[in-house]
Amino acid sequence: MKVLVNAGHAPNGNPDPGAVGPNGLRECDVTCNVAHMTVDYLQVAGVEADFIQSDSLEEICETANAGGYDLLLSIHCNSFNETAVGIEVWTSRGWTKADIFANKLMDQMHGTFPDQVVRADWSDGDVDKEAGLYVLNYSDCPAALFELPFISNPDQEAWLANSDNQRESAKAFARGVTDYFA
Ligand SMILES: [Zn+2]
Repeated sequence: MKVLVNAGHAPNGNPDPGAVGPNGLRECDVTCNVAHMTVDYLQVAGVEADFIQSDSLEEICETANAGGYDLLLSIHCNSFNETAVGIEVWTSRGWTKADIFANKLMDQMHGTFPDQVVRADWSDGDVDKEAGLYVLNYSDCPAALFELPFISNPDQEAWLANSDNQRESAKAFARGVTDYFA
C-alpha cells in the first residue's frame, strides 16, 4: 500500500503561499509540517508514503498516477473570514472509494479534536463535501482533500500554529489511512 501526501500550495510559499492568517501564518508552512509528519507516522506504521508539495496541480496528479499510489491525501487550511470555524473534507463527485477514505479521515480528526466543528454535507448520507477540485478529479486513485481549521480566523490561526495540534492532526491522518487499508 502506497500513499502520496500532498502539502497544499507551493514549497516555501513561492510563488503561492496559499492563505495567510491575520497574524502572518502561511498555509503552505502548516501544510508542509503536517504532511511531512503524516508521511513519517505512516512509515512508522509500515505504510509506504511519499511527500509532495508543488505549485503545479498537474504535477501532483501525474506523480500520483505514474507512481502507482493507492491513495492521495491533500492537506490544506481553510480560509474564509475571521469568524469561520471547523474542519471539512472533500472528494470528487459521486460515491467512490474516496468517500470511504474521507470518512475515515474525518472520523479520526473528529475523535482527536472533538471541539472542532465538523463542516459536513450530509445530503448524500456521509460527511464529505463534493466538488470538481482538480487533484480530486485527475488522480486515478481515491483522493481526499482535507481542510484543517480556518487560518483566516485568529483563534483558529493560533490553533494551526500550535505544534501539538499539527502533530496530532498528522497522527489522525495516518490513522485514517491505516483504517482505510484495514
Ligand atoms: Zn489551500
